[in-house]
Amino acid sequence: MGGKQKIVVVGAGPVGSLAALYAASRGDEVQIYELRGDLRDPSTIPLNFTRSINLALSERGINAMRHAGHQQLIDHVLGATIPMRGRMIHGRRANGNLYEESQDYDAHGRCILAIDRGGLNKRLLDILHNMPNVKFFFNHKLTGADFRNNKAWFEVRDSGSVSPEQRPREIEVDFDFMIGADGAHSAVRYHMMKYTRMDYQQMYIDTLWCEFQIPPKSTDADDASLHSNFSISPNHLHIWPAKEFMFIAIPSEDGSFTCTLFAPAALFEHLESDPTGSLIPPFFDQHFPGVTGLIPPSELIAQFRRNPHLPLISIKCAPHHCGASAVILGDAAHAMVPFYGQGMNAGLEDVRILFDVLDKHAALDRLSSGAEGAQSRTRARALALAEYTAVRTSDAHAINDLALQNYVEMRASVLSPLYRLRKWLEES
Ligand code: FAD
Repeated sequence: MGGKQKIVVVGAGPVGSLAALYAASRGDEVQIYELRGDLRDPSTIPLNFTRSINLALSERGINAMRHAGHQQLIDHVLGATIPMRGRMIHGRRANGNLYEESQDYDAHGRCILAIDRGGLNKRLLDILHNMPNVKFFFNHKLTGADFRNNKAWFEVRDSGSVSPEQRPREIEVDFDFMIGADGAHSAVRYHMMKYTRMDYQQMYIDTLWCEFQIPPKSTDADDASLHSNFSISPNHLHIWPAKEFMFIAIPSEDGSFTCTLFAPAALFEHLESDPTGSLIPPFFDQHFPGVTGLIPPSELIAQFRRNPHLPLISIKCAPHHCGASAVILGDAAHAMVPFYGQGMNAGLEDVRILFDVLDKHAALDRLSSGAEGAQSRTRARALALAEYTAVRTSDAHAINDLALQNYVEMRASVLSPLYRLRKWLEES
Protein backbone atom coordinates (compact mmCIF):
# COMPACT_ATOMS: atom_id res chain seq x y z
CA MET A 1 0.00 0.00 0.00
CA GLY A 2 1.74 3.18 -1.17
CA GLY A 3 2.38 6.35 0.84
CA LYS A 4 2.62 5.93 4.58
CA GLN A 5 0.19 8.37 6.20
CA LYS A 6 -0.12 9.96 9.59
CA ILE A 7 -3.37 8.93 11.23
CA VAL A 8 -4.45 10.76 14.37
CA VAL A 9 -7.01 8.89 16.48
CA VAL A 10 -8.84 11.02 19.08
CA GLY A 11 -10.15 8.92 21.98
CA ALA A 12 -8.68 5.67 23.30
CA GLY A 13 -12.00 4.05 24.27
CA PRO A 14 -12.88 0.67 22.74
CA VAL A 15 -13.77 2.13 19.35
CA GLY A 16 -10.73 4.45 19.02
CA SER A 17 -8.41 1.66 20.15
CA LEU A 18 -9.79 -0.81 17.61
CA ALA A 19 -9.61 1.84 14.87
CA ALA A 20 -5.95 2.51 15.79
CA LEU A 21 -5.26 -1.23 15.57
CA TYR A 22 -6.79 -1.47 12.08
CA ALA A 23 -4.83 1.62 10.94
CA ALA A 24 -1.54 0.45 12.46
CA SER A 25 -1.94 -3.02 10.91
CA ARG A 26 -1.97 -1.32 7.50
CA GLY A 27 1.48 0.17 8.19
CA ASP A 28 0.50 3.79 8.78
CA GLU A 29 1.99 6.01 11.48
CA VAL A 30 -0.69 6.13 14.19
CA GLN A 31 -0.91 8.65 17.01
CA ILE A 32 -3.60 8.20 19.67
CA TYR A 33 -4.63 11.24 21.73
CA GLU A 34 -6.67 10.59 24.87
CA LEU A 35 -8.16 13.12 27.28
CA ARG A 36 -7.68 10.90 30.32
CA GLY A 37 -4.67 9.04 31.68
CA ASP A 38 -3.75 5.51 30.66
CA LEU A 39 -6.60 3.19 31.64
CA ARG A 40 -4.03 0.55 32.58
CA ASP A 41 -2.71 2.84 35.31
CA PRO A 42 -4.76 2.00 38.45
CA SER A 43 -4.96 5.70 39.40
CA THR A 44 -6.94 6.51 36.23
CA ILE A 45 -10.67 6.63 36.93
CA PRO A 46 -12.81 5.81 33.89
CA LEU A 47 -14.87 8.80 32.82
CA ASN A 48 -18.52 8.61 33.92
CA PHE A 49 -18.26 5.09 35.23
CA THR A 50 -17.92 4.29 38.91
CA ARG A 51 -15.52 1.41 38.48
CA SER A 52 -15.92 -0.93 35.57
CA ILE A 53 -19.03 -1.46 33.56
CA ASN A 54 -20.09 -4.79 32.18
CA LEU A 55 -21.40 -4.83 28.67
CA ALA A 56 -23.12 -7.28 26.38
CA LEU A 57 -20.78 -8.14 23.52
CA SER A 58 -22.47 -9.61 20.45
CA GLU A 59 -21.48 -11.03 17.08
CA ARG A 60 -21.41 -7.52 15.55
CA GLY A 61 -18.55 -6.49 17.85
CA ILE A 62 -16.80 -9.87 17.89
CA ASN A 63 -16.68 -9.94 14.09
CA ALA A 64 -15.06 -6.50 14.00
CA MET A 65 -12.34 -7.71 16.38
CA ARG A 66 -11.90 -10.92 14.38
CA HIS A 67 -11.14 -8.82 11.29
CA ALA A 68 -8.45 -6.85 13.13
CA GLY A 69 -6.13 -9.73 12.27
CA HIS A 70 -4.87 -10.36 15.82
CA GLN A 71 -5.82 -13.87 16.90
CA GLN A 72 -4.49 -13.12 20.41
CA LEU A 73 -7.03 -10.28 20.70
CA ILE A 74 -10.00 -12.47 19.94
CA ASP A 75 -8.65 -15.38 22.06
CA HIS A 76 -8.12 -13.10 25.02
CA VAL A 77 -11.41 -11.25 24.66
CA LEU A 78 -13.54 -14.35 24.26
CA GLY A 79 -11.66 -16.04 27.11
CA ALA A 80 -12.79 -13.31 29.48
CA THR A 81 -16.52 -13.45 28.80
CA ILE A 82 -19.56 -15.12 30.31
CA PRO A 83 -22.22 -16.40 27.88
CA MET A 84 -25.73 -15.07 28.53
CA ARG A 85 -28.22 -17.33 26.71
CA GLY A 86 -31.30 -15.31 27.53
CA ARG A 87 -33.07 -12.96 29.84
CA MET A 88 -34.11 -13.99 33.32
CA ILE A 89 -37.26 -12.15 34.25
CA HIS A 90 -37.77 -11.69 37.99
CA GLY A 91 -41.14 -10.98 39.56
CA ARG A 92 -43.70 -11.77 42.25
CA ARG A 93 -46.85 -13.83 41.70
CA ALA A 94 -50.26 -12.79 42.96
CA ASN A 95 -49.81 -15.19 45.91
CA GLY A 96 -46.68 -13.28 46.93
CA ASN A 97 -44.17 -15.94 45.83
CA LEU A 98 -41.10 -14.79 43.90
CA TYR A 99 -40.52 -16.28 40.46
CA GLU A 100 -37.78 -16.36 37.82
CA GLU A 101 -38.61 -16.99 34.16
CA SER A 102 -35.89 -17.72 31.60
CA GLN A 103 -36.52 -16.37 28.08
CA ASP A 104 -33.84 -17.67 25.68
CA TYR A 105 -32.53 -15.26 23.05
CA ASP A 106 -32.13 -17.90 20.38
CA ALA A 107 -33.78 -21.24 19.58
CA HIS A 108 -30.34 -22.59 18.54
CA GLY A 109 -28.68 -21.62 21.81
CA ARG A 110 -26.59 -18.72 20.52
CA CYS A 111 -25.61 -16.28 23.25
CA ILE A 112 -24.51 -12.75 23.86
CA LEU A 113 -21.43 -12.38 26.08
CA ALA A 114 -20.96 -10.42 29.28
CA ILE A 115 -17.61 -8.63 29.18
CA ASP A 116 -15.79 -6.15 31.34
CA ARG A 117 -15.52 -2.98 29.24
CA GLY A 118 -12.30 -1.88 30.97
CA GLY A 119 -10.70 -5.30 30.46
CA LEU A 120 -11.47 -5.23 26.73
CA ASN A 121 -10.16 -1.68 26.42
CA LYS A 122 -6.95 -2.52 28.30
CA ARG A 123 -6.29 -5.54 26.09
CA LEU A 124 -6.57 -3.36 22.99
CA LEU A 125 -4.18 -0.80 24.53
CA ASP A 126 -1.68 -3.58 25.40
CA ILE A 127 -1.61 -4.80 21.79
CA LEU A 128 -1.22 -1.25 20.45
CA HIS A 129 1.52 -0.57 22.98
CA ASN A 130 3.69 -3.26 21.36
CA MET A 131 3.33 -1.91 17.82
CA PRO A 132 6.33 0.16 16.65
CA ASN A 133 4.23 2.52 14.50
CA VAL A 134 1.83 3.52 17.34
CA LYS A 135 2.38 6.39 19.78
CA PHE A 136 0.14 7.25 22.73
CA PHE A 137 -0.52 10.75 24.03
CA PHE A 138 -2.51 10.44 27.25
CA ASN A 139 -3.84 13.51 29.11
CA HIS A 140 -4.22 15.29 25.76
CA LYS A 141 -7.55 16.98 25.11
CA LEU A 142 -8.55 17.97 21.56
CA THR A 143 -9.43 21.67 21.70
CA GLY A 144 -9.45 22.67 18.03
CA ALA A 145 -9.15 21.32 14.50
CA ASP A 146 -8.73 22.81 11.05
CA PHE A 147 -9.91 20.27 8.49
CA ARG A 148 -8.86 22.40 5.52
CA ASN A 149 -5.20 22.41 6.52
CA ASN A 150 -5.29 19.19 8.57
CA LYS A 151 -4.07 20.64 11.84
CA ALA A 152 -5.33 19.97 15.36
CA TRP A 153 -4.67 21.47 18.78
CA PHE A 154 -4.48 19.59 22.05
CA GLU A 155 -4.35 20.84 25.62
CA VAL A 156 -1.70 18.86 27.47
CA ARG A 157 -2.69 18.03 31.02
CA ASP A 158 0.56 16.76 32.56
CA SER A 159 -0.76 15.32 35.79
CA GLY A 160 1.32 16.45 38.73
CA SER A 161 3.82 18.63 36.86
CA VAL A 162 1.54 21.65 36.33
CA SER A 163 0.56 23.80 39.30
CA PRO A 164 -3.07 24.96 39.38
CA GLU A 165 -2.02 28.56 38.55
CA GLN A 166 -0.16 27.49 35.42
CA ARG A 167 -2.10 27.33 32.17
CA PRO A 168 -2.04 23.93 30.51
CA ARG A 169 0.25 23.72 27.51
CA GLU A 170 -1.23 23.56 24.00
CA ILE A 171 0.39 21.70 21.13
CA GLU A 172 -0.26 21.75 17.39
CA VAL A 173 -0.38 18.45 15.53
CA ASP A 174 -0.68 17.89 11.80
CA PHE A 175 -2.25 14.82 10.26
CA ASP A 176 -3.28 13.21 7.00
CA PHE A 177 -6.41 11.66 8.43
CA MET A 178 -8.19 12.08 11.76
CA ILE A 179 -10.43 9.40 13.29
CA GLY A 180 -12.71 10.90 15.93
CA ALA A 181 -13.74 8.28 18.48
CA ASP A 182 -14.10 10.68 21.37
CA GLY A 183 -17.52 9.65 22.60
CA ALA A 184 -20.97 11.20 22.82
CA HIS A 185 -19.70 14.72 23.52
CA SER A 186 -17.20 14.50 20.68
CA ALA A 187 -14.95 17.51 20.12
CA VAL A 188 -14.01 16.15 16.68
CA ARG A 189 -17.69 16.21 15.67
CA TYR A 190 -18.05 19.75 17.03
CA HIS A 191 -15.13 21.03 14.95
CA MET A 192 -16.19 19.02 11.86
CA MET A 193 -19.49 20.91 11.92
CA LYS A 194 -17.63 24.10 11.00
CA TYR A 195 -16.32 22.52 7.80
CA THR A 196 -19.22 20.41 6.61
CA ARG A 197 -23.00 20.85 6.48
CA MET A 198 -23.73 18.35 9.21
CA ASP A 199 -27.28 17.59 10.28
CA TYR A 200 -27.31 16.94 13.98
CA GLN A 201 -29.96 15.76 16.42
CA GLN A 202 -29.57 14.97 20.10
CA MET A 203 -32.13 13.87 22.63
CA TYR A 204 -31.97 13.20 26.34
CA ILE A 205 -34.58 10.63 27.33
CA ASP A 206 -36.39 11.03 30.62
CA THR A 207 -34.40 8.26 32.25
CA LEU A 208 -31.38 8.31 34.53
CA TRP A 209 -29.20 5.34 35.42
CA CYS A 210 -27.30 4.38 38.53
CA GLU A 211 -24.95 1.45 38.96
CA PHE A 212 -25.15 -1.13 41.78
CA GLN A 213 -23.19 -4.26 42.60
CA ILE A 214 -24.40 -7.70 43.70
CA PRO A 215 -21.38 -9.13 45.53
CA PRO A 216 -19.99 -12.61 44.85
CA LYS A 217 -21.11 -15.25 47.33
CA SER A 218 -17.51 -15.62 48.48
CA THR A 219 -14.59 -13.23 48.15
CA ASP A 220 -12.17 -16.06 48.86
CA ALA A 221 -9.78 -16.19 45.87
CA ASP A 222 -9.87 -20.02 45.87
CA ASP A 223 -13.64 -20.01 45.45
CA ALA A 224 -13.74 -17.09 43.05
CA SER A 225 -13.72 -19.13 39.85
CA LEU A 226 -16.43 -21.51 41.01
CA HIS A 227 -19.75 -21.38 39.24
CA SER A 228 -21.34 -21.57 42.70
CA ASN A 229 -19.93 -18.13 43.50
CA PHE A 230 -22.87 -16.49 41.70
CA SER A 231 -25.98 -15.70 43.76
CA ILE A 232 -28.23 -15.95 40.67
CA SER A 233 -27.77 -17.64 37.28
CA PRO A 234 -24.53 -16.44 35.63
CA ASN A 235 -25.79 -17.26 32.14
CA HIS A 236 -28.59 -14.72 31.94
CA LEU A 237 -29.09 -11.02 31.67
CA HIS A 238 -31.37 -10.50 34.67
CA ILE A 239 -34.26 -8.07 34.43
CA TRP A 240 -36.64 -6.85 37.10
CA PRO A 241 -39.21 -5.12 34.83
CA ALA A 242 -41.51 -2.57 36.48
CA LYS A 243 -43.26 -1.09 33.42
CA GLU A 244 -42.04 2.52 33.79
CA PHE A 245 -38.57 1.60 35.09
CA MET A 246 -36.36 -1.46 35.57
CA PHE A 247 -33.37 -2.96 37.30
CA ILE A 248 -30.94 -5.23 35.41
CA ALA A 249 -27.91 -7.34 36.35
CA ILE A 250 -25.04 -8.63 34.19
CA PRO A 251 -22.56 -11.26 35.49
CA SER A 252 -18.85 -10.68 36.10
CA GLU A 253 -16.11 -13.30 36.22
CA ASP A 254 -15.55 -12.92 39.98
CA GLY A 255 -19.12 -13.98 40.77
CA SER A 256 -20.47 -10.46 41.20
CA PHE A 257 -23.09 -8.75 39.03
CA THR A 258 -22.99 -5.20 37.72
CA CYS A 259 -26.53 -3.89 38.07
CA THR A 260 -28.24 -0.80 36.74
CA LEU A 261 -31.35 1.01 37.86
CA PHE A 262 -33.03 2.82 34.94
CA ALA A 263 -35.84 5.15 35.99
CA PRO A 264 -37.41 8.55 35.21
CA ALA A 265 -35.66 11.58 36.72
CA ALA A 266 -38.71 12.29 38.93
CA LEU A 267 -38.38 8.88 40.56
CA PHE A 268 -34.70 9.52 41.30
CA GLU A 269 -35.70 12.85 42.85
CA HIS A 270 -38.30 11.08 44.99
CA LEU A 271 -35.76 8.52 46.24
CA GLU A 272 -33.26 11.31 46.94
CA SER A 273 -35.86 13.33 48.86
CA ASP A 274 -35.09 11.56 52.13
CA PRO A 275 -31.37 12.16 52.73
CA THR A 276 -31.12 9.07 54.98
CA GLY A 277 -32.02 6.88 51.97
CA SER A 278 -34.85 5.22 53.89
CA LEU A 279 -37.14 5.23 50.82
CA ILE A 280 -34.78 3.05 48.81
CA PRO A 281 -35.11 -0.47 50.33
CA PRO A 282 -38.96 -0.43 50.42
CA PHE A 283 -38.99 0.86 46.84
CA PHE A 284 -36.79 -2.05 45.78
CA ASP A 285 -38.92 -4.54 47.76
CA GLN A 286 -42.07 -3.31 46.08
CA HIS A 287 -40.82 -3.16 42.50
CA PHE A 288 -37.75 -5.40 42.24
CA PRO A 289 -38.65 -8.44 44.38
CA GLY A 290 -35.68 -10.38 45.72
CA VAL A 291 -33.05 -7.68 45.18
CA THR A 292 -32.74 -6.76 48.86
CA GLY A 293 -31.84 -10.42 49.44
CA LEU A 294 -28.94 -10.00 47.01
CA ILE A 295 -27.79 -6.50 47.99
CA PRO A 296 -28.29 -5.75 51.71
CA PRO A 297 -30.48 -2.65 52.26
CA SER A 298 -27.63 -0.65 53.85
CA GLU A 299 -25.49 -1.35 50.77
CA LEU A 300 -28.36 -0.42 48.42
CA ILE A 301 -28.61 2.94 50.15
CA ALA A 302 -24.82 3.46 50.17
CA GLN A 303 -24.48 2.60 46.48
CA PHE A 304 -27.43 4.76 45.44
CA ARG A 305 -25.88 7.71 47.28
CA ARG A 306 -22.28 7.05 46.22
CA ASN A 307 -22.70 6.26 42.53
CA PRO A 308 -23.56 8.97 40.04
CA HIS A 309 -27.07 9.34 38.59
CA LEU A 310 -26.33 9.74 34.91
CA PRO A 311 -28.38 10.82 31.90
CA LEU A 312 -28.91 8.91 28.65
CA ILE A 313 -28.39 10.63 25.33
CA SER A 314 -29.31 9.60 21.82
CA ILE A 315 -27.47 11.25 18.91
CA LYS A 316 -27.95 11.11 15.17
CA CYS A 317 -25.87 13.07 12.67
CA ALA A 318 -24.87 13.03 9.01
CA PRO A 319 -22.43 13.06 7.33
CA HIS A 320 -20.00 11.11 9.48
CA HIS A 321 -16.99 12.42 7.55
CA CYS A 322 -15.35 15.63 6.34
CA GLY A 323 -13.74 15.46 2.88
CA ALA A 324 -10.67 13.24 2.97
CA SER A 325 -9.62 14.61 6.36
CA ALA A 326 -11.76 13.12 9.09
CA VAL A 327 -14.39 10.62 10.14
CA ILE A 328 -16.29 10.09 13.39
CA LEU A 329 -17.00 6.62 14.72
CA GLY A 330 -18.76 5.01 17.69
CA ASP A 331 -20.61 7.18 20.18
CA ALA A 332 -19.14 10.29 18.52
CA ALA A 333 -21.28 9.50 15.47
CA HIS A 334 -24.27 7.69 16.97
CA ALA A 335 -24.48 7.59 20.77
CA MET A 336 -27.54 5.52 21.61
CA VAL A 337 -29.48 4.53 24.69
CA PRO A 338 -28.12 1.22 26.06
CA PHE A 339 -31.28 -0.92 25.89
CA TYR A 340 -30.36 -2.85 22.77
CA GLY A 341 -26.85 -3.57 24.09
CA GLN A 342 -25.40 -2.39 20.78
CA GLY A 343 -23.64 0.96 21.38
CA MET A 344 -20.13 -0.40 21.62
CA ASN A 345 -20.89 -3.29 19.26
CA ALA A 346 -22.07 -0.89 16.55
CA GLY A 347 -19.02 1.33 17.16
CA LEU A 348 -16.67 -1.63 16.69
CA GLU A 349 -18.59 -2.53 13.53
CA ASP A 350 -18.05 1.04 12.25
CA VAL A 351 -14.32 0.32 12.31
CA ARG A 352 -14.63 -2.86 10.24
CA ILE A 353 -16.87 -1.23 7.67
CA LEU A 354 -14.72 1.92 7.44
CA PHE A 355 -11.53 -0.02 6.74
CA ASP A 356 -13.28 -2.34 4.26
CA VAL A 357 -14.36 0.72 2.29
CA LEU A 358 -10.94 2.43 2.61
CA ASP A 359 -9.17 -0.73 1.39
CA LYS A 360 -11.57 -1.13 -1.51
CA HIS A 361 -11.08 2.45 -2.74
CA ALA A 362 -7.29 2.34 -2.29
CA ALA A 363 -7.17 -0.77 -4.49
CA LEU A 364 -9.55 0.71 -7.10
CA ASP A 365 -7.55 3.94 -7.30
CA ARG A 366 -4.29 2.06 -7.84
CA LEU A 367 -5.92 -0.01 -10.58
CA SER A 368 -7.42 2.96 -12.42
CA SER A 369 -4.60 5.50 -12.06
CA GLY A 370 -1.65 3.18 -11.58
CA ALA A 371 -0.47 5.70 -9.01
CA GLU A 372 0.64 5.07 -5.47
CA GLY A 373 1.55 7.52 -2.77
CA ALA A 374 0.04 10.26 -0.66
CA GLN A 375 -2.00 11.98 -3.37
CA SER A 376 -3.54 8.75 -4.54
CA ARG A 377 -4.45 7.79 -1.00
CA THR A 378 -6.05 11.14 -0.32
CA ARG A 379 -8.14 10.86 -3.49
CA ALA A 380 -9.18 7.32 -2.66
CA ARG A 381 -9.95 8.26 0.94
CA ALA A 382 -12.28 11.09 -0.08
CA LEU A 383 -14.33 8.63 -2.16
CA ALA A 384 -14.20 5.99 0.55
CA LEU A 385 -15.41 8.34 3.29
CA ALA A 386 -18.31 9.54 1.16
CA GLU A 387 -19.28 5.90 0.61
CA TYR A 388 -18.85 5.17 4.32
CA THR A 389 -21.30 7.94 5.26
CA ALA A 390 -23.73 6.74 2.59
CA VAL A 391 -23.75 3.13 3.80
CA ARG A 392 -23.41 3.70 7.51
CA THR A 393 -25.71 6.60 8.36
CA SER A 394 -29.01 4.81 7.79
CA ASP A 395 -27.80 1.77 9.76
CA ALA A 396 -26.66 4.00 12.62
CA HIS A 397 -30.02 5.76 12.69
CA ALA A 398 -31.88 2.44 12.58
CA ILE A 399 -30.00 0.93 15.52
CA ASN A 400 -30.50 4.16 17.43
CA ASP A 401 -34.28 3.83 16.98
CA LEU A 402 -34.24 0.11 17.83
CA ALA A 403 -32.37 0.90 21.04
CA LEU A 404 -35.08 3.37 22.07
CA GLN A 405 -37.84 0.87 21.27
CA ASN A 406 -36.17 -1.91 23.22
CA TYR A 407 -36.55 0.01 26.48
CA VAL A 408 -40.29 -0.58 26.29
CA GLU A 409 -39.68 -4.25 25.50
CA MET A 410 -37.33 -4.75 28.47
CA ARG A 411 -39.21 -2.86 31.14
CA ALA A 412 -42.80 -3.69 30.10
CA SER A 413 -43.48 -5.96 27.11
CA VAL A 414 -41.63 -8.93 28.65
CA LEU A 415 -44.40 -8.96 31.27
CA SER A 416 -47.35 -9.08 28.88
CA PRO A 417 -49.17 -12.41 28.38
CA LEU A 418 -49.36 -11.73 24.62
CA TYR A 419 -45.60 -11.33 24.42
CA ARG A 420 -45.11 -14.60 26.28
CA LEU A 421 -47.59 -16.40 24.06
CA ARG A 422 -45.80 -15.14 20.93
CA LYS A 423 -42.42 -16.29 22.32
CA TRP A 424 -43.90 -19.67 23.23
CA LEU A 425 -45.32 -20.09 19.69
CA GLU A 426 -41.97 -19.08 18.14
CA GLU A 427 -40.13 -21.62 20.22
CA SER A 428 -42.50 -24.56 19.80
P1 FAD B 1 -16.17 6.15 24.69
O1 FAD B 1 -16.17 4.82 25.35
O2 FAD B 1 -16.99 7.25 25.29
O3 FAD B 1 -14.66 6.64 24.57
C1 FAD B 1 -14.34 7.96 24.14
C2 FAD B 1 -12.94 8.29 24.60
O4 FAD B 1 -12.60 9.58 24.09
C3 FAD B 1 -12.82 8.37 26.12
O5 FAD B 1 -11.72 7.61 26.53
C4 FAD B 1 -12.65 9.87 26.40
O6 FAD B 1 -11.85 10.12 27.52
C5 FAD B 1 -11.98 10.33 25.11
N1 FAD B 1 -12.21 11.78 24.83
C6 FAD B 1 -13.36 12.47 24.98
N2 FAD B 1 -13.20 13.75 24.61
C7 FAD B 1 -11.91 13.88 24.21
C8 FAD B 1 -11.13 14.98 23.71
N3 FAD B 1 -11.64 16.21 23.56
N4 FAD B 1 -9.82 14.75 23.40
C9 FAD B 1 -9.28 13.50 23.54
N5 FAD B 1 -9.97 12.42 24.00
C10 FAD B 1 -11.28 12.60 24.32
N6 FAD B 1 -22.79 -0.98 24.49
C11 FAD B 1 -22.84 -2.28 24.09
O7 FAD B 1 -22.40 -2.61 22.97
N7 FAD B 1 -23.36 -3.24 24.89
C12 FAD B 1 -23.88 -2.97 26.12
O8 FAD B 1 -24.35 -3.87 26.82
C13 FAD B 1 -23.85 -1.60 26.57
N8 FAD B 1 -24.32 -1.27 27.78
C14 FAD B 1 -24.27 0.03 28.20
C15 FAD B 1 -24.80 0.37 29.46
C16 FAD B 1 -24.78 1.68 29.89
C17 FAD B 1 -25.38 2.02 31.23
C18 FAD B 1 -24.22 2.69 29.06
C19 FAD B 1 -24.20 4.11 29.51
C20 FAD B 1 -23.68 2.36 27.82
C21 FAD B 1 -23.71 1.03 27.37
N9 FAD B 1 -23.20 0.68 26.12
C22 FAD B 1 -23.27 -0.62 25.70
C23 FAD B 1 -22.65 1.71 25.22
C24 FAD B 1 -21.13 1.72 25.26
O9 FAD B 1 -20.66 1.99 26.57
C25 FAD B 1 -20.62 2.82 24.32
O10 FAD B 1 -21.28 2.72 23.09
C26 FAD B 1 -19.13 2.68 24.08
O11 FAD B 1 -18.42 2.84 25.28
C27 FAD B 1 -18.68 3.73 23.07
O12 FAD B 1 -17.32 3.60 22.85
P2 FAD B 1 -16.50 4.78 22.18
O13 FAD B 1 -15.08 4.29 22.12
O14 FAD B 1 -17.18 5.23 20.93
O15 FAD B 1 -16.64 6.02 23.18
